Amino acid sequence: MKYIGAHVSTSGGVENAPQNAHAIGATAFALFTKNQRQWQARPLTTSSIDAFQENCEKLNYSPRYILPHDSYLINLGHPEAEGLQKSRTAFLDEMQRCEQLGLQLLNFHPGSHLNKIDLATCLRTIAESINMVLDKTNGVTAVIENTAGQGSNVGFLFEHLAEIISHVEDKSRIGVCVDTCHAHASGYDLCSQPGFSETFETFDRIVGMDFLKGLHLNDSKKPRGSRVDRHESIGDGDMGTQPFAWIMQDARFDDMPLILETPNTENWPQEIAMLKDFQEKTG
Ligand SMILES: [Zn+2]
Ligand SMILES: [Zn+2]
Repeated sequence: MKYIGAHVSTSGGVENAPQNAHAIGATAFALFTKNQRQWQARPLTTSSIDAFQENCEKLNYSPRYILPHDSYLINLGHPEAEGLQKSRTAFLDEMQRCEQLGLQLLNFHPGSHLNKIDLATCLRTIAESINMVLDKTNGVTAVIENTAGQGSNVGFLFEHLAEIISHVEDKSRIGVCVDTCHAHASGYDLCSQPGFSETFETFDRIVGMDFLKGLHLNDSKKPRGSRVDRHESIGDGDMGTQPFAWIMQDARFDDMPLILETPNTENWPQEIAMLKDFQEKTG
């Protein structure tokens, strides 16, 4: 079964996310458990945690299909000691917030070398950061997202993700989320039938489908290989609707959160309905 949703607002508290997901017809959702543009956040209150869990239960959202996203400020591969320490502390806090909410996944962008260290060192540093944080938490899987390769961001090739995973000690709590816009921008072909097949065969060979914990479904404003990260509503960008129809008809993407991060939030009900529709049609 397919679980489809969007990265919904937590305005007024995390406990509001399930209703916001329900209102757009979602069967999965993503959220920030704190303000994504600030380092510090107040701890979650017991009443907020209880309300979140009650609302999830009432509206039928299992933690398996909820994919929280960490703060954009965190860089687990930071080349400098101070920035790295700050990032690791903040990431631990994010993991602990997920633990408190009873969530099982935390999605994050791997990091950036900032042109100060080489790629291999940056990937090793990210794996080391993950090891430290997994060591101090329980029950939450760290889910690395592939990137568009903008600026000095690492993680735009499946080889980067595999390299990080190879250095993570607890393989049972590491996973990957593939963002379609990022894959397209970094040069993978999802838009032709042979390209789509080859991209996921390559993913399976290099990373392994077993590590796939979710997808971000975004069209791309920018062309394939541009290495620029600009999301677009499904069908309105460079990718068109076809890759998303193939995803919806492909059993490899069953039973995981499939999350829209598209810019026109008022379109989400229609985008979700369109994705659900694709399941019935044959590509
Ligand atoms: Zn994404
Ligand atoms: Zn993006």
